[in-house]
Amino acid sequence: MRLWRDGFLERVVARLNARLTLPADVRIVVGPGESGDAPSGRTNPVLKLGYAFPAELRPLFNRYGVFTRRGTRIRPTTPARRRLRERAIRETLHAVALHELGHAYTGLWAIPTTSDDETIADVFASWAAVEVLGDPDAILYLANFRLGVGALRPAPGIAAWNRATGYADLFRLLRARPRRYRGIRRLLPRGYLRGETFIGGPWAGIRSALQPIALVPLGAAG
Ligand SMILES: [Zn+2]
Repeated sequence: MRLWRDGFLERVVARLNARLTLPADVRIVVGPGESGDAPSGRTNPVLKLGYAFPAELRPLFNRYGVFTRRGTRIRPTTPARRRLRERAIRETLHAVALHELGHAYTGLWAIPTTSDDETIADVFASWAAVEVLGDPDAILYLANFRLGVGALRPAPGIAAWNRATGYADLFRLLRARPRRYRGIRRLLPRGYLRGETFIGGPWAGIRSALQPIALVPLGAAG
């Protein structure tokens, strides 16, 4: 797979630069390693994207399954489904890059918030994918990735955070593009959209995950 060479990063840089201003340049480096890494400091931040990430994602999608826009979860057992899996991997990479860029923005602009940096980075990724890049599937597959981690890697805190954040990503996508993604509501827990489970119970934390949505327009200075 020609990772990071599908023109995505160039498109991200051009379109986000047209919408947002930062006090310092963020260097984006693609190299060995898994996943992505947020900038290390407030001056000259470097954002690292690993090209071993697909090798990490593929077994996860094989075991957990791949979401469709209709809200089903399929196993990549046929050539067509494996093509969908490869697209899911690519879309996850896009979303993770945007998530890391979200850290770059909040690291460089100290935005007051009641939420945590990881959640804000996902909110930023959602906004950038849906509203700036016209790439909403990136958020579908970010949620797919997070819910897969939540289901398959049972380190309690990490699993719970990934589940809560995965559902919040689906929720934002559904609210942002209700017609196109109406089927994905069946991927959400029963009662989620009615808000019954927001307080306490296994989805505690989701309420706080939804708060920073209001912050997104503040960053769009341009
Ligand atoms: Zn992060």
